[in-house]
Amino acid sequence: MGILLDVRDLHTSFFIEAGEVEAVRGLTFHVNEGEIVALVGESGCGKSVTAMSIMRLVPSPGKVTRGEIIFDGRDLLELSEREMEQVRGNEIGMVFQDPMTSLNPVLNVRTQIVEAILAHNDVSSREAEERAIELLKLVQIPSPERRLKSFPHELSGGMRQRVLIAMTLACNPKLVIADEPTTALDVTIQAQIIDLLLELNKKLGMSIMLITHDLGVVAGMAMRVAVMYAGRLVELGNSRDIYYHAQHPYTKGLLKSVPRLDADEKRKLAVIDGQPPDLLDPPPGCAFAPRCELAMDICTQKMPELTDVSSGHQAACWLKERRVREDIRVGTGGDS
Ligand code: SF4
Repeated sequence: MGILLDVRDLHTSFFIEAGEVEAVRGLTFHVNEGEIVALVGESGCGKSVTAMSIMRLVPSPGKVTRGEIIFDGRDLLELSEREMEQVRGNEIGMVFQDPMTSLNPVLNVRTQIVEAILAHNDVSSREAEERAIELLKLVQIPSPERRLKSFPHELSGGMRQRVLIAMTLACNPKLVIADEPTTALDVTIQAQIIDLLLELNKKLGMSIMLITHDLGVVAGMAMRVAVMYAGRLVELGNSRDIYYHAQHPYTKGLLKSVPRLDADEKRKLAVIDGQPPDLLDPPPGCAFAPRCELAMDICTQKMPELTDVSSGHQAACWLKERRVREDIRVGTGGDS
């Protein structure tokens, strides 16, 4: 399995009157071919800005200030706007939280999907219509021929999301970036859309970068999970590492806030107290320190780097370093 997307030391800032807001601060991660990677964190942690940076759609006054975004062997930051348009349409597709913002309310489903197909494939209108029906079937829309005549407002939220996914698939993307694709939907429909994305990943082999604030959504779906806090990666591992062996107090906090089916109904969901730091003036040490019950002196002074917990599992937390030091001390004591 080769690497499809390789993000290296990405920095993205917004330059406002008050100064530079560092929304993404040195992010490094990759997505393999055919892999599903989830980027998880609270709103404002930089996950959507990361997606916008990859698509080169960071709105003004934002700007990628440093780093590389290697996609399929090319650095997207080096491409001309014209080349980037090709990548956006044909190689990377995006699915957003609110399909209404991506669908045109005055055009029916047929026109929108057929236009997307014609824009990216050398086919006749008739072939495009046949392909549109195939795509609607693929995203499990019942009576696709009838649905082609519907306007977005005539569809439920779940149906609209399926139509948008079908439009994204029209260009056979190698990577789909799904930004909070289920947040606006109710729980049952959320599960259906997640199942659909999983099935499409298996059937079509496309990679998926799933962006979400909810670790519950990625359970059982993402192969690897990257947890972001205040513009940086704080933990990265496969689903098992994150769900059963989380190291970072922030990841543990996110896990406690996920509703569990086996939990006592009266059990209250935990919330992480406090607010993320102001990225106009990021703290010198661990950005999570003001909210962390386990913070030590060093946490407010020095930023912890992402280091290995085990193979493929990394965390950025001074507690881990302290545990290692204690283990060494215990080991030394035993030997003497
Ligand atoms: Fe908490 Fe310190 Fe770890 Fe940050 S580095 S998460 S403040 S223990």
